[in-house]
Amino acid sequence: MYLTDFHTHTHCSPDGSASLAEMAAAAGEAGLSEICMTDHCDLLDLEGNFTPSFSWGPLETEFAGRPDITGLVIRFGIELGEAPEDFTAAKKIADHPSLDFVIGSQHNLSRKAGGADYYFTKYATKDQCYRDLDDYFIQLYLLAEAGCFDVLGHILYPLRYMRRRDRQDVNFNRYRDQLAAIFRAVISKGKGIEVNTDRGRSVEEWRPLLRLYRDLGGEIITVGSDAHQPNHVGLGVFDAYCLLEREKFRYVAAYENHTPQFHPVYK
Ligand SMILES: [Zn+2]
Ligand SMILES: [Zn+2]
Repeated sequence: MYLTDFHTHTHCSPDGSASLAEMAAAAGEAGLSEICMTDHCDLLDLEGNFTPSFSWGPLETEFAGRPDITGLVIRFGIELGEAPEDFTAAKKIADHPSLDFVIGSQHNLSRKAGGADYYFTKYATKDQCYRDLDDYFIQLYLLAEAGCFDVLGHILYPLRYMRRRDRQDVNFNRYRDQLAAIFRAVISKGKGIEVNTDRGRSVEEWRPLLRLYRDLGGEIITVGSDAHQPNHVGLGVFDAYCLLEREKFRYVAAYENHTPQFHPVYK
């Protein structure tokens, strides 16, 4: 089985801890065939301040020094956050010539809604969650329409903090129409979505999203662990492949130069 992890962070991310060499060695140990480094490039910082410029030097250096590991392909990507804050700036970043892959993610509320990262927001009530999710789905739709990415990143992201951490009983049920509109935009532009296992903690939760995506004709899916340290590389990837197979997807995508290459989800 050709296992891929297309969402990993090195120490080029503020919250990453290891070199690409260490992450790649872990991927080799875990039996993966292909990984992509996808370090953060966010248009809002953790406090919600606008940060449109980005320095490529550290990432280029890290990738240029990638190790040669037999049986492991290593790709160069980024996780581009908060593109709706400035699509011109986002597009310029996404068009950087040496990139294989861009994940489009939304980590923060829009600046109009305060700009805070969901990670730094304490969720005390369901009303508060849904207020922030209303904003989230507007941003996600704008992002999907703009299409300055290859796959839409971790759609379940706010629920990590609302549900799992802060124990609020909220879900995406009321956003089904918005989700469908987002998926239609993604599909019509030839883009994809990712199953982000959140270091192996989130696989089954993707099932309803995958069903909707598939029913609308979606086919392009990457799988990523969102590892920020070597011992998390590849966690949940195999389980995600099994879920995809059960949900009647046949292929997982890996990207070279923004072009998806399809690998069977079964042996
Ligand atoms: Zn992210
Ligand atoms: Zn990430």
